[in-house]
Amino acid sequence: MKPSASDMLLLIISSPSGAGKTTLCKRLLVEFGDLRFSVSHTTRAPRMTEVDGRDYHFVSRDEFHRMVAAGELAEWAEYAGNLYGTSLSEIERARTEGRRGVLFDVEYQGARQLRAVRPDVIGVFILPPSLAELERRLRARATDSDEAIRRRFEVAKRELGHYGLFDYVIVNDDVDTAYGELRAVVMAERAVRWRRAALAERLLAEGALDKR
Ligand code: 5GP
Repeated sequence: MKPSASDMLLLIISSPSGAGKTTLCKRLLVEFGDLRFSVSHTTRAPRMTEVDGRDYHFVSRDEFHRMVAAGELAEWAEYAGNLYGTSLSEIERARTEGRRGVLFDVEYQGARQLRAVRPDVIGVFILPPSLAELERRLRARATDSDEAIRRRFEVAKRELGHYGLFDYVIVNDDVDTAYGELRAVVMAERAVRWRRAALAERLLAEGALDKR
């Protein structure tokens, strides 16, 4: 049976870049095979290890603007000079594939827009243990230029102020501990009463539950 739109877990994972979000998302997708990663569109150039269609759909600014004008994006934002957006078809595809959830890796403006169109989204914000550690991690990612790193660090510091948009905040100091918290959020959210209401009602209708 396919999950109804409201049974699906729409999970946003957001953080300043360098907080370790990508690693945590990858682990989550391995463990929860029924979660679908929402592949965003971006005008940013691919990094060395990135694959078009898997990590992002890499598009020109013209194509991105066309998608915005055509109403094909559920949300979009500019981040450090590049455009990023989630297409509506990513969410729809998860439903038609019968997945139990969608994982969105978006920054805070995207999180805010997704929440406006789907109030049932759950937002998780990943914090670095310190600013010094955040800067160190950004520099360790040797694929970015010095200028890109400096810009990302400035953006990251401003992004910390938006943690209030999210339901959960996880500190990524030790990655195993952070991951343990993240998977606990997924398990708990799946068991939230309203997400199980359709099943409970069906069982009630079958007379399998005692209504007294
Ligand atoms: P990066 O260039 O490091 O892959 O991503 C930069 C930022 O853009 C990250 O904070 C990431 O979460 C965000 N991002 C990636 N895809 C999307 C998207 O579809 N929409 C929005 N609003 N942000 C995104």
